Amino acid sequence: MSECFQLNNHANSELQRPRHYLDYAATAPMRSEVLEAMLPWLGSDCGFGNASTLYFEGRQARAATEGARAEIALAIGAKPTELVFCSGGTEADHACITGIATALRTTRALDKGNRHIVCASFEHHAVLEPVRLLKRLGYDVTILNPDCCGFITEEQLAASITSDTALVAIMLAQNEIGTIQPLSCLVQVVRKASLAMGHKVYIHTDAVQALGKMQLNMRSLDVDTASFSAHKIGGPKGIGAFYLKSGTPFSAPMRGGGQEGGRRGGTQNVAGAIGFATAVRIACNPVYMQEENARICGFRDRIIAELVSGTGGTYSGSNSGSDNNDGYYNGDYHNGGSRNGKGIIRTAVPIKPSDTQNHLSNIVPLLVAGTSSEMLTLRLDEAGFAVSAGSACSTGSLEPSHVLLALGLGKDQANTALRISLGHASSKADIDALLAFLKGYVS
Ligand code: PLP
Repeated sequence: MSECFQLNNHANSELQRPRHYLDYAATAPMRSEVLEAMLPWLGSDCGFGNASTLYFEGRQARAATEGARAEIALAIGAKPTELVFCSGGTEADHACITGIATALRTTRALDKGNRHIVCASFEHHAVLEPVRLLKRLGYDVTILNPDCCGFITEEQLAASITSDTALVAIMLAQNEIGTIQPLSCLVQVVRKASLAMGHKVYIHTDAVQALGKMQLNMRSLDVDTASFSAHKIGGPKGIGAFYLKSGTPFSAPMRGGGQEGGRRGGTQNVAGAIGFATAVRIACNPVYMQEENARICGFRDRIIAELVSGTGGTYSGSNSGSDNNDGYYNGDYHNGGSRNGKGIIRTAVPIKPSDTQNHLSNIVPLLVAGTSSEMLTLRLDEAGFAVSAGSACSTGSLEPSHVLLALGLGKDQANTALRISLGHASSKADIDALLAFLKGYVS
Protein backbone atom coordinates (compact mmCIF):
# COMPACT_ATOMS: atom_id res chain seq x y z
CA MET A 1 0.00 0.00 0.00
CA SER A 2 2.05 2.91 -1.17
CA GLU A 3 -0.44 5.77 -1.09
CA CYS A 4 -0.61 8.11 1.82
CA PHE A 5 -3.30 7.41 4.42
CA GLN A 6 -5.63 10.34 4.99
CA LEU A 7 -5.44 10.40 8.74
CA ASN A 8 -6.77 13.80 9.77
CA ASN A 9 -5.29 13.76 13.22
CA HIS A 10 -1.74 13.10 12.10
CA ALA A 11 0.92 15.73 12.00
CA ASN A 12 1.46 17.21 8.54
CA SER A 13 4.92 15.74 8.16
CA GLU A 14 3.49 12.26 8.66
CA LEU A 15 0.84 12.88 6.01
CA GLN A 16 3.52 13.64 3.44
CA ARG A 17 5.19 10.28 3.84
CA PRO A 18 4.01 7.11 2.07
CA ARG A 19 2.81 4.56 4.61
CA HIS A 20 3.36 0.81 4.48
CA TYR A 21 0.74 -0.98 6.54
CA LEU A 22 2.16 -4.33 7.72
CA ASP A 23 0.03 -5.17 10.75
CA TYR A 24 -2.87 -7.20 9.33
CA ALA A 25 -2.97 -9.55 12.31
CA ALA A 26 -3.96 -6.50 14.39
CA THR A 27 -6.54 -5.33 11.89
CA ALA A 28 -6.98 -5.07 8.13
CA PRO A 29 -8.08 -2.00 6.22
CA MET A 30 -11.71 -2.37 5.18
CA ARG A 31 -12.16 -3.67 1.65
CA SER A 32 -13.86 -1.19 -0.68
CA GLU A 33 -16.52 -3.80 -1.58
CA VAL A 34 -17.37 -4.11 2.11
CA LEU A 35 -17.87 -0.39 2.56
CA GLU A 36 -19.98 -0.26 -0.61
CA ALA A 37 -22.19 -3.13 0.59
CA MET A 38 -22.65 -1.57 4.03
CA LEU A 39 -23.41 2.02 3.03
CA PRO A 40 -27.09 1.57 2.10
CA TRP A 41 -27.67 -0.04 5.51
CA LEU A 42 -26.14 2.83 7.41
CA GLY A 43 -28.39 5.56 6.00
CA SER A 44 -32.02 6.36 6.71
CA ASP A 45 -33.51 5.14 3.43
CA CYS A 46 -33.45 1.40 4.03
CA GLY A 47 -32.28 -1.13 6.54
CA PHE A 48 -32.28 1.08 9.61
CA GLY A 49 -35.10 -0.91 11.21
CA ASN A 50 -34.64 -3.03 14.30
CA ALA A 51 -34.31 -6.61 13.06
CA SER A 52 -36.55 -7.86 15.88
CA THR A 53 -39.61 -5.83 14.85
CA LEU A 54 -42.53 -7.09 12.82
CA TYR A 55 -43.17 -4.24 10.37
CA PHE A 56 -41.56 -3.69 6.95
CA GLU A 57 -38.38 -1.89 8.08
CA GLY A 58 -37.73 -4.58 10.65
CA ARG A 59 -38.44 -7.41 8.22
CA GLN A 60 -36.02 -5.82 5.76
CA ALA A 61 -33.28 -5.64 8.41
CA ARG A 62 -34.01 -9.19 9.55
CA ALA A 63 -33.87 -10.59 6.01
CA ALA A 64 -30.50 -8.90 5.45
CA THR A 65 -29.10 -10.17 8.76
CA GLU A 66 -30.28 -13.70 8.10
CA GLY A 67 -28.85 -13.58 4.55
CA ALA A 68 -25.49 -12.55 5.99
CA ARG A 69 -25.69 -15.29 8.62
CA ALA A 70 -26.45 -17.95 6.00
CA GLU A 71 -23.54 -16.83 3.83
CA ILE A 72 -20.98 -16.85 6.65
CA ALA A 73 -22.29 -20.16 8.02
CA LEU A 74 -21.93 -21.78 4.60
CA ALA A 75 -18.34 -20.51 4.30
CA ILE A 76 -17.34 -22.14 7.61
CA GLY A 77 -19.29 -25.37 7.18
CA ALA A 78 -21.93 -24.65 9.82
CA LYS A 79 -25.72 -24.37 9.89
CA PRO A 80 -27.06 -20.80 9.98
CA THR A 81 -28.70 -21.58 13.34
CA GLU A 82 -25.25 -22.44 14.71
CA LEU A 83 -23.79 -18.98 13.99
CA VAL A 84 -24.31 -16.26 16.60
CA PHE A 85 -23.42 -12.66 15.79
CA CYS A 86 -21.65 -10.61 18.46
CA SER A 87 -19.26 -7.67 18.72
CA GLY A 88 -16.03 -9.41 17.70
CA GLY A 89 -13.44 -12.02 18.55
CA THR A 90 -13.05 -11.01 22.18
CA GLU A 91 -16.74 -11.30 22.94
CA ALA A 92 -16.97 -14.53 20.95
CA ASP A 93 -14.18 -16.16 23.01
CA HIS A 94 -15.70 -14.94 26.28
CA ALA A 95 -19.16 -16.15 25.31
CA CYS A 96 -18.01 -19.63 24.30
CA ILE A 97 -15.86 -20.24 27.37
CA THR A 98 -18.05 -18.78 30.07
CA GLY A 99 -21.26 -19.83 28.28
CA ILE A 100 -20.34 -23.53 28.27
CA ALA A 101 -18.76 -23.51 31.74
CA THR A 102 -21.80 -21.84 33.30
CA ALA A 103 -24.24 -24.14 31.54
CA LEU A 104 -22.39 -27.27 32.70
CA ARG A 105 -22.34 -25.97 36.26
CA THR A 106 -26.10 -26.10 36.35
CA THR A 107 -26.65 -29.31 34.38
CA ARG A 108 -23.89 -31.62 35.67
CA ALA A 109 -23.29 -33.14 39.06
CA LEU A 110 -20.75 -31.09 40.99
CA ASP A 111 -18.10 -33.78 40.92
CA LYS A 112 -18.37 -34.71 37.26
CA GLY A 113 -16.69 -32.87 34.44
CA ASN A 114 -17.46 -29.32 35.40
CA ARG A 115 -14.60 -27.89 37.42
CA HIS A 116 -11.52 -28.19 35.22
CA ILE A 117 -10.46 -26.24 32.14
CA VAL A 118 -7.47 -26.83 29.87
CA CYS A 119 -6.06 -24.16 27.57
CA ALA A 120 -2.83 -23.30 25.79
CA SER A 121 -0.52 -20.68 27.26
CA PHE A 122 -0.25 -18.91 23.90
CA GLU A 123 -3.97 -18.21 23.65
CA HIS A 124 -5.05 -14.66 22.99
CA HIS A 125 -5.97 -12.65 26.10
CA ALA A 126 -9.58 -12.92 24.93
CA VAL A 127 -9.35 -16.60 25.96
CA LEU A 128 -6.88 -16.32 28.85
CA GLU A 129 -8.91 -13.68 30.70
CA PRO A 130 -12.22 -15.58 30.91
CA VAL A 131 -10.24 -18.67 31.90
CA ARG A 132 -8.55 -16.62 34.66
CA LEU A 133 -11.95 -15.38 35.76
CA LEU A 134 -13.23 -18.95 36.02
CA LYS A 135 -10.14 -19.86 38.01
CA ARG A 136 -10.96 -17.11 40.50
CA LEU A 137 -14.44 -18.59 40.70
CA GLY A 138 -13.02 -21.93 41.78
CA TYR A 139 -12.19 -23.84 38.59
CA ASP A 140 -8.98 -25.80 38.28
CA VAL A 141 -7.04 -24.68 35.24
CA THR A 142 -4.28 -26.49 33.37
CA ILE A 143 -2.22 -24.33 31.04
CA LEU A 144 -0.34 -26.18 28.30
CA ASN A 145 2.94 -24.75 27.06
CA PRO A 146 3.69 -25.26 23.37
CA ASP A 147 6.90 -26.92 22.27
CA CYS A 148 9.62 -24.50 21.18
CA CYS A 149 8.28 -24.58 17.61
CA GLY A 150 4.89 -23.30 18.79
CA PHE A 151 2.71 -26.44 18.80
CA ILE A 152 0.61 -28.26 21.37
CA THR A 153 1.09 -32.02 21.13
CA GLU A 154 -1.55 -34.74 21.33
CA GLU A 155 0.37 -36.43 24.16
CA GLN A 156 0.44 -33.38 26.42
CA LEU A 157 -3.24 -32.67 25.77
CA ALA A 158 -4.20 -36.29 26.51
CA ALA A 159 -2.23 -36.17 29.76
CA SER A 160 -3.95 -32.95 30.86
CA ILE A 161 -7.57 -34.15 30.67
CA THR A 162 -9.01 -35.43 33.94
CA SER A 163 -12.37 -36.87 34.97
CA ASP A 164 -13.32 -33.33 35.95
CA THR A 165 -12.47 -31.59 32.67
CA ALA A 166 -15.34 -29.58 31.25
CA LEU A 167 -13.67 -27.63 28.48
CA VAL A 168 -10.50 -27.46 26.39
CA ALA A 169 -9.56 -24.26 24.51
CA ILE A 170 -6.84 -24.44 21.84
CA MET A 171 -6.60 -21.79 19.17
CA LEU A 172 -6.47 -22.79 15.52
CA ALA A 173 -3.91 -20.23 14.28
CA GLN A 174 -1.67 -18.21 16.57
CA ASN A 175 -1.79 -14.43 16.12
CA GLU A 176 1.85 -13.63 17.01
CA ILE A 177 3.85 -16.56 15.66
CA GLY A 178 1.42 -17.84 13.02
CA THR A 179 1.54 -21.53 13.95
CA ILE A 180 -1.47 -23.60 12.88
CA GLN A 181 -2.28 -26.21 15.49
CA PRO A 182 -2.95 -29.84 14.51
CA LEU A 183 -6.51 -29.21 15.66
CA SER A 184 -8.24 -32.24 14.08
CA CYS A 185 -5.82 -34.53 15.96
CA LEU A 186 -6.29 -32.56 19.19
CA VAL A 187 -10.08 -32.79 18.83
CA GLN A 188 -9.72 -36.58 18.44
CA VAL A 189 -7.79 -36.67 21.71
CA VAL A 190 -10.63 -34.80 23.44
CA ARG A 191 -13.30 -37.05 21.91
CA LYS A 192 -11.41 -40.17 22.98
CA ALA A 193 -10.99 -38.83 26.50
CA SER A 194 -14.72 -38.02 26.63
CA LEU A 195 -15.56 -41.63 25.80
CA ALA A 196 -13.22 -42.89 28.48
CA MET A 197 -14.65 -40.45 31.08
CA GLY A 198 -18.27 -41.19 30.26
CA HIS A 199 -19.07 -37.49 29.86
CA LYS A 200 -18.43 -35.02 27.09
CA VAL A 201 -15.44 -32.69 27.27
CA TYR A 202 -16.17 -29.63 25.11
CA ILE A 203 -13.61 -28.01 22.83
CA HIS A 204 -13.43 -24.36 21.83
CA THR A 205 -11.12 -22.96 19.20
CA ASP A 206 -10.25 -19.32 18.56
CA ALA A 207 -10.34 -19.19 14.76
CA VAL A 208 -10.01 -15.41 14.48
CA GLN A 209 -6.69 -15.49 12.58
CA ALA A 210 -7.56 -18.62 10.61
CA LEU A 211 -10.65 -17.20 8.91
CA GLY A 212 -9.90 -16.26 5.32
CA LYS A 213 -6.48 -17.95 5.47
CA MET A 214 -7.58 -21.59 5.71
CA GLN A 215 -10.55 -23.52 4.37
CA LEU A 216 -12.71 -24.05 7.44
CA ASN A 217 -15.40 -26.62 8.03
CA MET A 218 -16.78 -26.72 11.55
CA ARG A 219 -18.56 -29.99 10.92
CA SER A 220 -15.44 -31.88 9.86
CA LEU A 221 -13.19 -30.08 12.36
CA ASP A 222 -15.69 -31.31 14.98
CA VAL A 223 -15.12 -28.54 17.52
CA ASP A 224 -18.03 -27.48 19.73
CA THR A 225 -17.47 -23.73 19.53
CA ALA A 226 -15.27 -21.35 17.53
CA SER A 227 -14.75 -17.58 17.41
CA PHE A 228 -14.47 -15.23 14.43
CA SER A 229 -13.93 -11.52 13.85
CA ALA A 230 -14.76 -9.47 10.75
CA HIS A 231 -12.07 -6.81 10.94
CA LYS A 232 -9.17 -9.25 10.50
CA ILE A 233 -10.33 -10.05 6.96
CA GLY A 234 -11.18 -6.56 5.68
CA GLY A 235 -14.64 -6.40 7.25
CA PRO A 236 -15.84 -3.77 9.71
CA LYS A 237 -14.68 -3.51 13.29
CA GLY A 238 -17.19 -4.22 16.03
CA ILE A 239 -18.73 -7.37 14.61
CA GLY A 240 -17.80 -11.02 14.91
CA ALA A 241 -19.52 -14.30 15.49
CA PHE A 242 -19.23 -17.58 17.30
CA TYR A 243 -20.04 -21.03 16.09
CA LEU A 244 -22.11 -22.96 18.61
CA LYS A 245 -22.62 -26.54 17.52
CA SER A 246 -26.25 -27.67 17.82
CA GLY A 247 -26.88 -29.25 21.19
CA THR A 248 -23.93 -27.61 22.97
CA PRO A 249 -24.94 -26.53 26.48
CA PHE A 250 -24.76 -22.75 26.59
CA SER A 251 -25.81 -20.16 29.13
CA ALA A 252 -25.69 -16.77 27.42
CA PRO A 253 -23.38 -14.32 29.23
CA MET A 254 -25.02 -11.41 27.38
CA ARG A 255 -28.73 -11.47 28.11
CA GLY A 256 -31.38 -9.05 27.06
CA GLY A 257 -34.11 -9.02 24.46
CA GLY A 258 -33.64 -12.62 23.34
CA GLN A 259 -31.93 -11.76 20.05
CA GLU A 260 -29.77 -14.36 18.28
CA GLY A 261 -32.05 -17.12 19.55
CA GLY A 262 -31.51 -16.01 23.15
CA ARG A 263 -27.77 -16.63 22.84
CA ARG A 264 -26.65 -12.99 22.58
CA GLY A 265 -28.90 -10.15 23.62
CA GLY A 266 -28.65 -6.75 21.95
CA THR A 267 -30.08 -5.08 18.84
CA GLN A 268 -28.41 -6.64 15.85
CA ASN A 269 -25.77 -4.78 13.86
CA VAL A 270 -27.30 -5.16 10.41
CA ALA A 271 -24.75 -3.13 8.43
CA GLY A 272 -21.97 -4.92 10.32
CA ALA A 273 -23.41 -8.34 9.47
CA ILE A 274 -23.62 -7.37 5.80
CA GLY A 275 -20.04 -6.06 5.86
CA PHE A 276 -18.86 -9.23 7.58
CA ALA A 277 -20.60 -11.45 5.02
CA THR A 278 -19.16 -9.42 2.14
CA ALA A 279 -15.64 -9.76 3.55
CA VAL A 280 -16.17 -13.51 4.01
CA ARG A 281 -17.51 -13.84 0.43
CA ILE A 282 -14.24 -12.38 -0.86
CA ALA A 283 -11.67 -13.73 1.59
CA CYS A 284 -13.10 -17.26 1.87
CA ASN A 285 -13.64 -17.81 -1.83
CA PRO A 286 -11.51 -20.95 -2.36
CA VAL A 287 -9.81 -19.75 -5.56
CA TYR A 288 -9.09 -16.29 -4.16
CA MET A 289 -7.83 -17.76 -0.90
CA GLN A 290 -5.45 -20.11 -2.67
CA GLU A 291 -4.05 -17.37 -4.91
CA GLU A 292 -3.79 -14.90 -2.08
CA ASN A 293 -2.07 -17.42 0.20
CA ALA A 294 0.47 -18.17 -2.53
CA ARG A 295 1.11 -14.45 -3.16
CA ILE A 296 1.45 -13.59 0.53
CA CYS A 297 3.50 -16.69 1.27
CA GLY A 298 5.91 -15.56 -1.46
CA PHE A 299 6.37 -12.28 0.43
CA ARG A 300 6.82 -14.11 3.74
CA ASP A 301 9.42 -16.46 2.28
CA ARG A 302 11.27 -13.56 0.69
CA ILE A 303 11.43 -11.63 3.97
CA ILE A 304 12.83 -14.71 5.70
CA ALA A 305 15.25 -15.58 2.91
CA GLU A 306 16.68 -12.05 2.70
CA LEU A 307 16.75 -11.12 6.38
CA VAL A 308 16.88 -14.15 8.54
CA SER A 309 19.96 -15.98 9.64
CA GLY A 310 18.40 -18.50 11.98
CA THR A 311 15.53 -19.31 14.28
CA GLY A 312 15.39 -17.87 17.76
CA GLY A 313 13.70 -20.67 19.64
CA THR A 314 15.10 -22.97 22.24
CA TYR A 315 15.02 -25.90 19.91
CA SER A 316 17.18 -28.60 21.39
CA GLY A 317 16.12 -31.72 19.54
CA SER A 318 18.26 -34.03 17.52
CA ASN A 319 17.93 -31.76 14.50
CA SER A 320 21.09 -29.85 15.33
CA GLY A 321 21.38 -27.97 12.09
CA SER A 322 23.70 -25.08 11.57
CA ASP A 323 23.25 -21.58 10.26
CA ASN A 324 21.85 -22.58 6.90
CA ASN A 325 20.20 -19.24 6.24
CA ASP A 326 16.89 -20.76 5.22
CA GLY A 327 14.96 -19.59 8.24
CA TYR A 328 14.31 -23.16 9.27
CA TYR A 329 15.73 -25.32 12.03
CA ASN A 330 18.95 -24.28 13.64
CA GLY A 331 19.00 -26.66 16.52
CA ASP A 332 22.08 -25.18 18.14
CA TYR A 333 20.35 -22.02 19.35
CA HIS A 334 19.37 -21.89 22.99
CA ASN A 335 17.71 -18.70 24.13
CA GLY A 336 19.93 -16.68 21.86
CA GLY A 337 23.11 -18.18 23.24
CA SER A 338 26.28 -16.82 21.77
CA ARG A 339 24.60 -15.86 18.49
CA ASN A 340 22.64 -12.93 19.88
CA GLY A 341 24.83 -10.24 18.35
CA LYS A 342 23.54 -7.08 16.65
CA GLY A 343 22.55 -7.61 13.07
CA ILE A 344 21.24 -11.13 13.50
CA ILE A 345 17.58 -11.54 12.65
CA ARG A 346 15.78 -14.79 13.36
CA THR A 347 12.29 -16.11 13.12
CA ALA A 348 10.76 -16.71 16.56
CA VAL A 349 9.73 -20.18 15.41
CA PRO A 350 11.02 -22.28 12.53
CA ILE A 351 9.12 -21.61 9.31
CA LYS A 352 9.69 -23.76 6.24
CA PRO A 353 9.56 -22.04 2.86
CA SER A 354 6.10 -22.34 1.21
CA ASP A 355 4.63 -23.99 4.31
CA THR A 356 1.03 -22.87 4.68
CA GLN A 357 -0.10 -26.08 6.41
CA ASN A 358 1.65 -25.45 9.73
CA HIS A 359 2.10 -21.70 9.47
CA LEU A 360 -0.15 -18.90 8.36
CA SER A 361 1.18 -17.43 5.15
CA ASN A 362 0.83 -13.87 6.41
CA ILE A 363 2.61 -13.76 9.78
CA VAL A 364 6.37 -13.30 10.02
CA PRO A 365 7.52 -13.36 13.66
CA LEU A 366 11.05 -11.97 13.87
CA LEU A 367 13.61 -11.45 16.63
CA VAL A 368 16.01 -8.62 15.85
CA ALA A 369 19.07 -8.99 18.04
CA GLY A 370 20.68 -5.92 19.55
CA THR A 371 17.54 -3.78 19.55
CA SER A 372 14.31 -3.45 21.52
CA SER A 373 10.92 -4.08 19.98
CA GLU A 374 9.68 -0.71 21.16
CA MET A 375 12.60 1.21 19.71
CA LEU A 376 12.44 -0.64 16.42
CA THR A 377 8.70 -0.19 15.93
CA LEU A 378 9.07 3.53 16.65
CA ARG A 379 11.91 3.81 14.13
CA LEU A 380 9.82 1.88 11.61
CA ASP A 381 6.85 4.15 12.24
CA GLU A 382 9.00 7.23 11.64
CA ALA A 383 10.11 5.69 8.37
CA GLY A 384 6.51 5.02 7.32
CA PHE A 385 5.93 1.41 8.41
CA ALA A 386 3.11 0.18 10.65
CA VAL A 387 4.52 -2.97 12.24
CA SER A 388 3.74 -4.52 15.59
CA ALA A 389 6.12 -5.39 18.40
CA GLY A 390 4.20 -8.59 19.05
CA SER A 391 0.48 -8.53 19.60
CA ALA A 392 -1.20 -5.16 19.01
CA CYS A 393 -3.85 -6.24 21.44
CA SER A 394 -1.34 -5.73 24.24
CA THR A 395 -0.52 -2.23 23.12
CA GLY A 396 0.59 0.03 25.90
CA SER A 397 2.19 -2.85 27.72
CA LEU A 398 5.96 -2.99 27.75
CA GLU A 399 5.82 -6.51 29.09
CA PRO A 400 7.38 -9.13 26.83
CA SER A 401 4.85 -11.18 24.89
CA HIS A 402 3.40 -14.08 26.88
CA VAL A 403 3.44 -16.05 23.65
CA LEU A 404 7.19 -15.72 23.15
CA LEU A 405 7.85 -16.47 26.81
CA ALA A 406 5.67 -19.59 26.46
CA LEU A 407 7.99 -20.74 23.66
CA GLY A 408 10.83 -20.71 26.14
CA LEU A 409 12.47 -17.46 25.05
CA GLY A 410 14.04 -15.32 27.76
CA LYS A 411 12.59 -11.86 28.53
CA ASP A 412 15.51 -10.13 26.83
CA GLN A 413 15.07 -12.09 23.65
CA ALA A 414 11.27 -11.71 23.70
CA ASN A 415 11.81 -7.95 23.95
CA THR A 416 13.44 -7.97 20.51
CA ALA A 417 10.31 -9.24 18.75
CA LEU A 418 8.88 -7.73 15.61
CA ARG A 419 5.71 -9.12 14.04
CA ILE A 420 5.19 -8.39 10.38
CA SER A 421 1.75 -9.41 9.17
CA LEU A 422 0.55 -9.11 5.62
CA GLY A 423 -2.80 -8.96 3.89
CA HIS A 424 -4.90 -8.15 0.88
CA ALA A 425 -3.41 -4.74 0.11
CA SER A 426 0.21 -5.71 0.80
CA SER A 427 2.35 -5.17 -2.26
CA LYS A 428 5.81 -5.91 -3.56
CA ALA A 429 6.63 -2.24 -2.99
CA ASP A 430 5.82 -2.65 0.71
CA ILE A 431 8.17 -5.62 0.98
CA ASP A 432 10.96 -3.95 -1.02
CA ALA A 433 10.79 -0.91 1.23
CA LEU A 434 10.68 -2.97 4.44
CA LEU A 435 13.65 -5.11 3.41
CA ALA A 436 15.68 -2.04 2.47
CA PHE A 437 14.91 -0.41 5.83
CA LEU A 438 15.63 -3.46 7.97
CA LYS A 439 18.83 -4.36 6.12
CA GLY A 440 20.05 -0.81 6.72
CA TYR A 441 18.92 -0.88 10.36
CA VAL A 442 20.81 -4.01 11.32
CA SER A 443 23.95 -3.44 9.25
N1 PLP B 1 -8.35 -13.82 19.04
C1 PLP B 1 -7.27 -13.61 18.29
C2 PLP B 1 -6.41 -14.77 17.91
C3 PLP B 1 -6.94 -12.32 17.86
O1 PLP B 1 -5.84 -12.14 17.12
C4 PLP B 1 -7.76 -11.25 18.25
C5 PLP B 1 -7.40 -9.86 17.89
O2 PLP B 1 -6.25 -9.55 17.72
C6 PLP B 1 -8.90 -11.52 19.02
C7 PLP B 1 -9.16 -12.81 19.40
C8 PLP B 1 -9.83 -10.42 19.42
O3 PLP B 1 -10.65 -10.05 18.34
P1 PLP B 1 -11.41 -8.66 18.33
O4 PLP B 1 -10.41 -7.60 18.08
O5 PLP B 1 -12.41 -8.79 17.19
O6 PLP B 1 -12.11 -8.53 19.63
